[in-house]
Amino acid sequence: MKISNTYINGEIDNKDTGINFQLINPSNEEDVGSLICSSEEQINKAVISAKNAQENSENLSIKERIYILEQIIDGIELNKEELANAMTLEMGAPIKLTTSAHIQMGLDHLINTINVLKNYKFSESSDGFEIIRSPIGVVALITPWNWPLNQTLTKIASSIAAGCSIIIKPSEYSSLSAKILIDIIDKTDLPKGIFNMVNGIGKDVGPFITSHPDINMISFTGSTEAGINIQELAAKSVKRVSLELGGKSAHIICQNVDLNTAIPNAIDQCFINSGQSCSAPTRLLVHENDITEINEIIINHVKNITTGDPMVNETDLGPVVNKKQFNSIQQYIESGIKDKFDLVTGGLGRCNDYLKGFYIKPTIFTNVSNQSKIAQEEIFGPVLCIISYKDINDAISIANDSKYGLSSYITSNDNDEAMEIAKKLRAGQTIINKKSRGSVPAPFGGFKMSGNGREHGQHGLEEYLEIKAII
Ligand code: NAD
Repeated sequence: MKISNTYINGEIDNKDTGINFQLINPSNEEDVGSLICSSEEQINKAVISAKNAQENSENLSIKERIYILEQIIDGIELNKEELANAMTLEMGAPIKLTTSAHIQMGLDHLINTINVLKNYKFSESSDGFEIIRSPIGVVALITPWNWPLNQTLTKIASSIAAGCSIIIKPSEYSSLSAKILIDIIDKTDLPKGIFNMVNGIGKDVGPFITSHPDINMISFTGSTEAGINIQELAAKSVKRVSLELGGKSAHIICQNVDLNTAIPNAIDQCFINSGQSCSAPTRLLVHENDITEINEIIINHVKNITTGDPMVNETDLGPVVNKKQFNSIQQYIESGIKDKFDLVTGGLGRCNDYLKGFYIKPTIFTNVSNQSKIAQEEIFGPVLCIISYKDINDAISIANDSKYGLSSYITSNDNDEAMEIAKKLRAGQTIINKKSRGSVPAPFGGFKMSGNGREHGQHGLEEYLEIKAII
């Protein structure tokens, strides 16, 4: 099956460019189809389409923008099942997760953006001057495969709300769900040309986008390595570049909590989506007096995690996305073993003795040094590093001792203490005593090498606006 997701000015361009990307089902390594990658010529056409449509986009009234976002919500609702199946097939997340959190996060971004639009002041008077917030213009949205709908929809919602026209390049690994998204947006009243999609392998097609002089902004979510490359190429045309990059987030377990609840929760938070979340708390910080006590809790909890076919309803942990990622995670596990950290559960090789599929054994190391490779680098799989701390100041300094700063977590029974710790953590968000951030429209983005952008809600919208002063 050949898939063409090149969508320009309201039409799918089926032309076979001769450059294909093979889509593989990560649960059994079978071929799923072949994505026809966009050519440079098609990318240029998509940019022209977006540029020509920019005026139409700016002229949409707030009411019309809200209506279009509502139509996308209706489209997602109608195609929920198809979208969830596509995501499970393309990237291996368990069906119970794609039908719930994957879909819901996408919907939440649309709902939250509508709520922001209802009250947002695009212009205001100040002391002798007027401020107008205008759309930045043509935006390129480049997204990863790990939470496909979440990442595409947060960017699309903010761009439409701001009045920008769009060229989106979703990950080549999430082309099945991207195709459904084209159909959903095609059926809305969004004027043709405002939404365009191009495809391909990032390092090949990416530079045509990031260096294009007629694109005014790049909003990128993905690896830090690609983010740096994008920023370098975008610099020549002085585009705005909003980066949402990798992470190695810390979770501080304070001494005053019940470890029988806190440790299983912390493991689940790390392993959700097979550990393939940028904000996953992959460094768990536990007081040195508690470190031996938790081994039994870990073993008892992990043996109840069901790993296997992601299409089966009972599965908690599916395969990781592809062979490259599987091999890279194996190397990290090997590195932890070589460093002689305590391997409490998991280890090398495929889970459940499977002969096929990218199944990683849920793996937990304790007594890990924060200076080690497995504690400093983003593994992006179900591998948790437990690090001991001496006192809370030590925990804070370990948490901050990372080149990343995307997220952070605290489990504590003392809210005042947790707030004090949160203020000292160098990360874009701190989640206290919660499994996830839920649907709150709080800004999301990183400190340090986790990026410079903010997404969701009002802060997400403002990324796509230019401030103009009229004096
Ligand atoms: P990736 O960087 O390989 O690819 C992300 C997207 O960028 C894809 O569409 C890819 O085709 C494209 N791309 C790759 N190289 C490019 C280049 N040189 N120029 C232009 N485009 C390029 O990342 P991935 O493997 O898809 O996703 C995993 C990474 O994304 C992890 O590092 C994870 O932490 C990060 N991530 C960050 C966030 C966040 O919000 N901070 C969210 C999700 C994922």
